[in-house]
Amino acid sequence: MTRTLLPDLTPDRVAAAARRVMARCDELARVTATPGEIERVYLSTEHARVNRLAAEWMREVGMSTRQDAAGNQIGRLDAIHRGASDRDAPALMIGSHLDTVPDAGRFDGIVGVLMALEVVRLLRVPGPDGESSLSPLPFAIEVVAFSDEEGTRFGKALLGSSAVAGTWNDDWWQLTDADGTTLRQAALEFGLDPGRIGEAARRPDELVGYLEAHIEQGPELDRRGQSLAVVSSIASARRFQLVVEGEARHAGGTPYDMRHDALLGASEAALAVERICRGEHHVIGTVGQLEAFPGAVNIVPGEAHFSLDLRGEFDGERDRVWDALSRDLDVIMGRRGLRWRAREVHNAPAVMCAPLLQDVIRAGIRGALPDAPDDPATLFSPAGHDGMSIGAITDVGMLFLRNPDGISHHPDEAVSAADVALGIRALAESVLHLAAEPR
Ligand SMILES: [Zn+2]
Repeated sequence: MTRTLLPDLTPDRVAAAARRVMARCDELARVTATPGEIERVYLSTEHARVNRLAAEWMREVGMSTRQDAAGNQIGRLDAIHRGASDRDAPALMIGSHLDTVPDAGRFDGIVGVLMALEVVRLLRVPGPDGESSLSPLPFAIEVVAFSDEEGTRFGKALLGSSAVAGTWNDDWWQLTDADGTTLRQAALEFGLDPGRIGEAARRPDELVGYLEAHIEQGPELDRRGQSLAVVSSIASARRFQLVVEGEARHAGGTPYDMRHDALLGASEAALAVERICRGEHHVIGTVGQLEAFPGAVNIVPGEAHFSLDLRGEFDGERDRVWDALSRDLDVIMGRRGLRWRAREVHNAPAVMCAPLLQDVIRAGIRGALPDAPDDPATLFSPAGHDGMSIGAITDVGMLFLRNPDGISHHPDEAVSAADVALGIRALAESVLHLAAEPR
């Protein structure tokens, strides 16, 4: 039984599209602030350069282009209405981000933008003027290259997609980078008008949905020997800064039965995070920072500070783990004569991928992989993505590509051209399945 909606699409054409994506990932990797590494942050000259390249590639497939008030680069392929272009038709957005973390890999975010352009190339039809292209579907297609997903420069992630979602907070203008430049100054220097940030916001009625292809930032697909997965949700996350208080005393003169060592309490807490989360399938916790005070070689630590990053597929599971951990911390600190407190610094609910978009991506994967199981892999994303913001205005669906060894945010980050080819095909098939849905 054939399951493809693209029967005339030859493997050669898809392979050529994948090769173009890989070559462009290399080309974008050369646009960096740090020679020998990849680093591209929000509102930098590198950001401007990759936007210009993306715009050129958008026009090459017949899209009209614009850079919005938050520095997102957008290409649009209008829908056809009675043989002409319908500028007002709602759009399916497909995209990802072009910014990076420091010393990044070349695929996180980038590959999703470039794959979206290849989907446009495969699906478009010529426009009446012979220059532009049109979407043959009952909706327009917009490719979005989000300007800031990682939050590397200003410490606040998802700035680009928050502007599109209309959830921009004017307090963010005062955020500063490592050099003390405010977000407002950086936007002005980039050529944006902070007073017009609201113009980047999209209304729900302008959109059909949002699809994103992204490398998996873990090893699950690699372990299963599969190329592609449907994403069920983007993790809910909570972050805490914890403080343990004990008593600083002389390291030589204080016997163990008199010590209230804050660092040992914090260390035991970190082990409790691992023990509790290991017993969970859908929650993962990490202590990434740990500091002892006063921090002298000859003093029993009187205070310890540590961070906790807790992510879960569902908010309820994540919160249950935090409650269990809190009870454990009471016991651990009580036994050691320590006090502890926690300050929550981040709380984002899980964004569930829309069931309809999960279904069309599942159908897309089956169309791309005739030998695929009827039920392709479904994974939740413990990493954050632009869909977390975009979920506020429209349905979100995500496709994951296998990432060998699961390494990401690292120069060794990888994806194979063969998997990119399957991903492009699956994404194109997903768009066609969505177009076939009654609206
Ligand atoms: Zn990403």
